[in-house]
Amino acid sequence: MADVEFRIVSDRREGLLLELGRLVMASGFTLQRQRMTRSEEGVVLTMLVRGPETNLLMLEDRLGSHPLVQSFEAGVPDAVRPATTTTAAPVEPLRARIPEHTGDAASTAPDHARVEVLLPALARAYPDVFSRVLAFEHELTVAQREATTRYAGMRLGAWIYKRDYALGARLNLGESVKHIALPAMRNLLRHVELNDDGLRIKNSPFTGIGLHRGSSCHFLRGCLEGLLNEPGHLGRPRILETFCRNSGADSCTFTFAA
Ligand SMILES: [Zn+2]
Repeated sequence: MADVEFRIVSDRREGLLLELGRLVMASGFTLQRQRMTRSEEGVVLTMLVRGPETNLLMLEDRLGSHPLVQSFEAGVPDAVRPATTTTAAPVEPLRARIPEHTGDAASTAPDHARVEVLLPALARAYPDVFSRVLAFEHELTVAQREATTRYAGMRLGAWIYKRDYALGARLNLGESVKHIALPAMRNLLRHVELNDDGLRIKNSPFTGIGLHRGSSCHFLRGCLEGLLNEPGHLGRPRILETFCRNSGADSCTFTFAA
């Protein structure tokens, strides 16, 4: 379960909470708290919602494309506030709470908050996501780069699975690679093949750009993980990038093991 706070700007007050509340529920979330204010930007609706993290990208996608929504930001809410503070001080802009680079070289955990901000943009741009992902990757600290872009890939992969493959039959790992991972990657990239060695990607946009030493396609690895973890019945397959163009191979190869 995830708690996420949305700050939504609209030009209309009437029906706003009703419509967006429906959309929240239709996405499997519950509305924990909301507040409507007026600002120079227009009507500002702040909603704290709780629901499955795997549905978050879908909810963000729906909010982002709703005609009443002019713009929105998503963020991690403050640590638990007392239940009586529903009319407390206005929520500050969420983006302001997302930590800037701390320069903490020891921090190798993914920066979830930054990924949450990126995801709606990826959903809107899909399948042309790479320019955004590369810009995002450039902004990260070296220590966080691998874990955070891999996590972003996982979230996008899970979203693609739910969007395009969730209604399909239950497949084993080999079949899932062939019928889910392969077409999903072909939708993102050209020159993707599956052979006995694994999934081969000829022109990964993450190679030769000086961001990583050694294997560099952490976002693609994460995508594959998201696509194959999301069905649930496969467990968490082990996915490795065994060859990478960034290390001198002629293409990037990903292998899959249960
Ligand atoms: Zn690679």
